[in-house]
Amino acid sequence: MKIIMLGAPGAGKGTQAKQIADKYQIPHISTGDIFRANIKEGTELGKKAKTFMDQGELVPDELTVALVADRIVKEDCKNGFVLDGFPRTIPQAEALDKTLEEMGEKMDYAIDVDVPDENIVNRMGGRRACVNCGATYHIVSIPTKVEGICDDCGSGLILREDDKPETVQKRLSVYHEQTQPLIEYYGGQGILKTVDGTRPMKNVFEDIIRILGA
Ligand code: AMP
Repeated sequence: MKIIMLGAPGAGKGTQAKQIADKYQIPHISTGDIFRANIKEGTELGKKAKTFMDQGELVPDELTVALVADRIVKEDCKNGFVLDGFPRTIPQAEALDKTLEEMGEKMDYAIDVDVPDENIVNRMGGRRACVNCGATYHIVSIPTKVEGICDDCGSGLILREDDKPETVQKRLSVYHEQTQPLIEYYGGQGILKTVDGTRPMKNVFEDIIRILGA
């Protein structure tokens, strides 16, 4: 099962993607996580990506597309994968289709987690990320067991640079300009499914399972 998660930053698509990956035993591929891992390791890619990410801009397509193309041909992707945060532009979607076509494959579902902008801004202010392992939480909806401490590795939590209010506004406008057109793109391919992302996370996940089939 090959799935794309669509939705504005902060719509909750990452949380849903992780749960889908767990349930269906397929890899969760998050380009944001890959970039953050590269930043932490201090790689050339990380250095380049950081300048765009800190501004709320997209990392250029040429850096992003190759990364995903290399990842989805790996052995662990043979039964499918869930893409989280990719594609984010029409050229990325076209490049993905081309890569899959060369493999004799195609995407099965594009799931849009739909949340209005006003909810997004409120949500992002409550988001916290682990300084060490990158795990994400929310002070209200996904709290840690001990306040300010990561459940997974015990390190401290921060409000990520790109989750700060001014950057969130920028990311939202980038989303509307560059990523939202994908809804029409996948609608045209007949694989678009929309779920109401304002519902509690558990209900959103149930809606997704209903779409994908238990
Ligand atoms: P995310 O964790 O998916 O919200 O991604 C965080 C940031 O990484 C985004 O705001 C972008 O700067 C960058 N990024 C992640 N995925 C992509 C992508 N597919 N294309 C371009 N930039 C991306």
